[in-house]
Amino acid sequence: MGELSRIWRESEHRYRLMGNKCGHCDMVFFPIRDVCPHCHRESIGKMKPVELSGKGEIVSFTIVHDTPPSFVRQRPYTLALIRLDEGPVLTGQIVDAEKDAVEIGKRVKSVFRKIGEDGKSGIIQYGYKFVLE
Ligand SMILES: [Zn+2]
Ligand SMILES: [Zn+2]
Repeated sequence: MGELSRIWRESEHRYRLMGNKCGHCDMVFFPIRDVCPHCHRESIGKMKPVELSGKGEIVSFTIVHDTPPSFVRQRPYTLALIRLDEGPVLTGQIVDAEKDAVEIGKRVKSVFRKIGEDGKSGIIQYGYKFVLE
């Protein structure tokens, strides 16, 4: 395999949404947990990594108007509570959506986007955000 495809595969791996699953009760967590909060000791050594679909639905959302200076270019933005199809609930930014298109119950999927840039080093950071499905 060539060097470029190796790098591509590694970055693809890095940008997948990874959670983990309790081998005792099958509950899925994101971010990952060392121990299942329901099974405690019974889950030790049974927590297995699991790739999440990144798909889910909006549970609630809020329009954020006050943002730190580094986010000036993207204000205001929509922050939503999202329940993934696998069960975990997380907070994520909704991007590329028309102003009134975001509603409770709407389907979303995760995308990897630039989340910040260190002006001095030029290092660009990526993270997950969500778009309407
Ligand atoms: Zn469990
Ligand atoms: Zn259990």
